[in-house]
Amino acid sequence: MRLILFGPPGAGKGTQAKLMIEAFGLPHISTGDILRSEVKNNTELGKKAKAYMESGKLVPDTLVTEMVKSRLSSSDVKNGFILDGFPRTEGQARSLDNILPGGIDRAIYLETSEDVVVQRLTGRRVCPKCGTNYHLKNMPPKKDMICDQCQVGLYQRPDDNEATVKNRLHVYLQESEGVLGYYRVQGKLENVSGDLDSKDVFSVIQKIISSLK
Ligand SMILES: [Zn+2]
Repeated sequence: MRLILFGPPGAGKGTQAKLMIEAFGLPHISTGDILRSEVKNNTELGKKAKAYMESGKLVPDTLVTEMVKSRLSSSDVKNGFILDGFPRTEGQARSLDNILPGGIDRAIYLETSEDVVVQRLTGRRVCPKCGTNYHLKNMPPKKDMICDQCQVGLYQRPDDNEATVKNRLHVYLQESEGVLGYYRVQGKLENVSGDLDSKDVFSVIQKIISSLK
């Protein structure tokens, strides 16, 4: 099963990826993780990427695609994968189709409304020590603004304020239009409401996946 997970910030992509990994035993492939591991292992691609990152530049599309290609040649992805953070553009989606004969099975898009994204992200609080995410309303810590595990004060990420969240959402919607359209035309795009509770979102995803078997 070759799946891609799409969704704006605040759609609950991380939560769904985790549930999918547990339920289906598929490897989770995120470009962030690939990049970190290539850099850490000092591979040729990693060295090139590091040079861009150290000079404060974005790692170019072609290099990211090369890394994804190399990751997709590993034996653990033979039976499928969940791809996260790639492809970002229609061009990358075409490259992915060239890498994988037959292409992907489904692109799952967690379509999430602005109100819900704003509510989720502006209420988010993070532990500076262990990185655990809390939510003022949906997942509050046991003690007010204190991490359950570390007993240190939580903070709000500077880009989790309403104006920035709205802007991030709009940028995402604009940037993802091309790639989502690419899979829509192929009949491979599945729109799932990201506004639902994570359990309900997951049961919709499960139905999609069982229809593929
Ligand atoms: Zn903590």
